[in-house]
Amino acid sequence: MAAADRRIVFLGPPNSGKGTQAAILAKDLGIPAISTGEMLRSAVAAGSSLGDRVKDVMTRGDLVNDELMAEVIRDRLSQSDALTGFLLDGYPRTAVQAATLEEILGGINADLDDVVLIDAPEDVLVTRALGRGREDDQEHVVHERLRVYREKTAPLIDFYEVKGLLRRISGDQPIEEVARQVKASIGAEVG
Ligand code: AMP
Repeated sequence: MAAADRRIVFLGPPNSGKGTQAAILAKDLGIPAISTGEMLRSAVAAGSSLGDRVKDVMTRGDLVNDELMAEVIRDRLSQSDALTGFLLDGYPRTAVQAATLEEILGGINADLDDVVLIDAPEDVLVTRALGRGREDDQEHVVHERLRVYREKTAPLIDFYEVKGLLRRISGDQPIEEVARQVKASIGAEVG
């Protein structure tokens, strides 16, 4: 299928496998996978001023504020590789961020094509997180990240469902099977 002009958002709780699936699909479609979490972790690792501003919030499992995230995403989406299509992994995460994204897309006369929700039962998410060993994967932080997801991000599911954009996939399956279902759900060629 043509990669051009495909704009996709991946939604889901931490450890649903959303990042892995986002990377697989973006590669298949030939569009950039834009992970705000990865961008922020690199900023922290590089010791940049952005990194310094977000480090503590991330370590707590909380969300970086919407204004700062708006700067980050505007800047990234204005880069040339994202102009004809992109896959967002980890943005938007709040209603305000969803509005910011609509505003950015409106500015370039573009629309989202699909919002892929990858979800899994809570016990699966927690078990996966504790096996992963990232700095924000300590047990109390894992629970905090899930709490924040349910409170701030999960409401976006209805927001996108009403728009007819939501594709729901179970992340509690082998990676290849999830990838197959993701592709089928957005009407991409399978295989
Ligand atoms: P992730 O890798 O997507 O789970 O992101 C890791 C951490 O980065 C999150 O727990 C947040 O602290 C921060 N973060 C990433 N994306 C966003 C976003 N869109 N809004 C606010 N905080 C974010």
